[in-house]
Amino acid sequence: MRDVVIIGGGLSGLSAAYELEQMGVPYRLIEVKKQLGGSLTSTRREGFLMDNGPFAFHLPAEWPLLAELGLTGPLYTVTSPAGKSWQVFREGTASLVNALAGRLTGTIVHRMAVSSIGQLDKRFTLCMENGLMWDAGALIVAAPARHAERMFRTLRPEVSQRLAGFPYDTVVRIGIGVRREAFQHPGRRIWDMAVAYYYETDHPDRVPSDGLLLQLGLRFHAGQIPTPDELITMLQSRLNLPEIVTSVVTHWPEADPLAHLSAGYEANMATIETLLPPGVALIGSDYRQTDLVGLVEQGRAAARRIAAWASGE
Ligand SMILES: Cc1cc2nc3c(=O)[nH]c(=O)nc-3n(C[C@H](O)[C@H](O)[C@H](O)COP(=O)(O)OP(=O)(O)OC[C@H]3O[C@@H](n4cnc5c(N)ncnc54)[C@H](O)[C@@H]3O)c2cc1C
Repeated sequence: MRDVVIIGGGLSGLSAAYELEQMGVPYRLIEVKKQLGGSLTSTRREGFLMDNGPFAFHLPAEWPLLAELGLTGPLYTVTSPAGKSWQVFREGTASLVNALAGRLTGTIVHRMAVSSIGQLDKRFTLCMENGLMWDAGALIVAAPARHAERMFRTLRPEVSQRLAGFPYDTVVRIGIGVRREAFQHPGRRIWDMAVAYYYETDHPDRVPSDGLLLQLGLRFHAGQIPTPDELITMLQSRLNLPEIVTSVVTHWPEADPLAHLSAGYEANMATIETLLPPGVALIGSDYRQTDLVGLVEQGRAAARRIAAWASGE
């Protein structure tokens, strides 16, 4: 059995690692940041548990993985003012990352960035930014196109060229904790701003007994982003919010993938997939999946595919 290296420890890379772990396939994972989970992090302050990146998702009728991870209980439903419903993790989306990561026994290396991938004989070679070299029998690249583009420059220049133009938008995630009885619902005024997502909750696992948590997702074009203080002041006045107990503003520059909205995206993805060498998978929110459940299942499917290929070699 060939060994597998996973590049990127966000949700899709972790899901691939989880699946390889279940199958008993040897793997190593490289993550450039000091923590796993990519954009999935949560912060608790003054008794309010706020999600800094993804905060809600659509749960399919059946998703057995949640029970497998012991996460069936910790979910509840929130509804936006526009009447849309989503599922939220009681202990924050970071609980999904922790549940996956907690089951991994393979080698996980932090603070190492893969800069390029090559191929020597029948093995892949990975060159790190710090000069270290690794080799691998098979590869799962679980990094956004803006990073993967560089990795493929030597191995498959045409893949690199096709990944280079992927467009992104800037996203800002905001958590605001207020006292419930002082809060008056702003109604449709929420949507007067650049708000793309909004929900509020007084679930006791997320807020103190007299609290209410507002979670907002705002979109800005690069160059127009207010500072965190300006954003909070603006929201407080526009939404007529009472005194703010706590807040978290997380700015994700160039993190919202837009490529899937452009004409020719499907054809480009299909070509990229045919150009990838056997034994290499490319997964993540730039590649056909953008929601949490889809990314997890894409990661797991890629792991099964790569394991099947690796066992036949
Ligand atoms: C702010 C924000 C909010 C979102 N909200 C929602 C939501 O509410 N609901 C929903 O369903 N989806 C949401 N999404 C979309 C999607 O579900 C998430 O982006 C998801 O976390 C993407 O996971 P990923 O593994 O594909 O990518 P990432 O989380 O980007 O993970 C990629 C990982 O690769 C690492 N990496 C990059 N380059 C290298 C390198 N050279 N070497 C080693 N490691 C590298 C990165 O550090 C990162 O950890 C949101 C996305 C963002 C950005």
